[in-house]
Amino acid sequence: MKKKIYLDFAATTPLDKSVLKKMMPYLENKFGNASSIHKFGQEASEAIDETRTKMAKFLNCKPTEIVFTGSASESNNLAIRGVIKAIRRKKQAGEKIQVITTKIEHKAVLEVFKDLEKEGVKVVYLPVGTDGIINIDDLRAEITPETDLISIMYANNEVGSIQPIKKIGKIISEINKIEQHPIYFHTDAVQAANWLDLDVNSLGVHLLTLSGHKIYGPKGVGILYVKEGIPIMPIILGGSHEWGLRAGTENVAGIVGMGAAISQIKHTKTNTLSMLKLKEKLIKGILTNVRGSKINGPLKTDDQLPNIVNFSFLGVEGESLVITLDEAGFAVSTGSACTSTALMPSHVLIAMGLTDLNAHSSLRISLGKYTTIKEIDLFIKILPKVIEKLRRISGR
Ligand code: PLP
Repeated sequence: MKKKIYLDFAATTPLDKSVLKKMMPYLENKFGNASSIHKFGQEASEAIDETRTKMAKFLNCKPTEIVFTGSASESNNLAIRGVIKAIRRKKQAGEKIQVITTKIEHKAVLEVFKDLEKEGVKVVYLPVGTDGIINIDDLRAEITPETDLISIMYANNEVGSIQPIKKIGKIISEINKIEQHPIYFHTDAVQAANWLDLDVNSLGVHLLTLSGHKIYGPKGVGILYVKEGIPIMPIILGGSHEWGLRAGTENVAGIVGMGAAISQIKHTKTNTLSMLKLKEKLIKGILTNVRGSKINGPLKTDDQLPNIVNFSFLGVEGESLVITLDEAGFAVSTGSACTSTALMPSHVLIAMGLTDLNAHSSLRISLGKYTTIKEIDLFIKILPKVIEKLRRISGR
């Protein structure tokens, strides 16, 4: 059988072999419940504590500010719903909760806000430019003395655009110094984790979401950083696990895996440059070999993740392209894996000003640490043929 080439690292990453090795004892002999008093329990509890310390070091926060969850989706839900629940209890009757987010958030944020709108929360969805980045002045204009929460993703999963989180954090911190009514700031940093600075203090965020399976760790584990003193209430009720913020017996192997995965992340210039080199080769190869191809996303290198690129191919349907490339041995996607089964055009591309037609003809290619130049060469060789074939079929 022909070797399959995986170019969909933004959807998920393979589990690193060394991470699996660290996890195995906790799936086999060290199976204790971290809440149990006996030795089995202590062993599990110590492993969780150790990982918590590791995570805290990585984010430059206290171990007590780390909450382990079951996914980034859950972390986003806890951050948003949990903070709003706590704020709501402090508000006078009739006082509205006011939040600001962007039009290009992951569904795990957008759907939470859409649901909260039904409960009377006022949500402002900031627009983005054709580069997939918000305008800071738009944000400034929307902040009022009543703003409670701002949730803006660090890097976008479909086009790789990076939001100016540090600048936003600074603006919020300045406002919080003078206003009585504090604004809380959450960022979904799932796609940023492999590449960008995640020091929560220098970013100025109060809540930050990460996922295990985007960093060569296991699926089914996420974290939420919650700055000390931030009002937040649990959304899953039960035992007093995770500082009373997330009931449920801890996924010890998953948590240990997340810690091992975090330890492997190296935010070095060399790593970024070598990934950028691969991406630039890919982009150049596509632009010169495929007529009617257009990049969707930022043009400046500093504004984009080094591993994600999104293209539209005139006259080609994205879904058909993904299926045909899959048959040819290449795994890519049309956008977010969570929405790629829905036949709606990507909300991210529409927000960036693409027509429905152009959004439907999009393809996301996302590279990872196992991607080689040879794989890129093979992809560039096959893509023009596949596209021409599809264009012939559709008569374009
Ligand atoms: N946020 C972003 C930006 C993502 O890319 C994803 C996954 O696609 C998620 C949240 C959800 O992550 P999880 O699968 O851990 O729930």
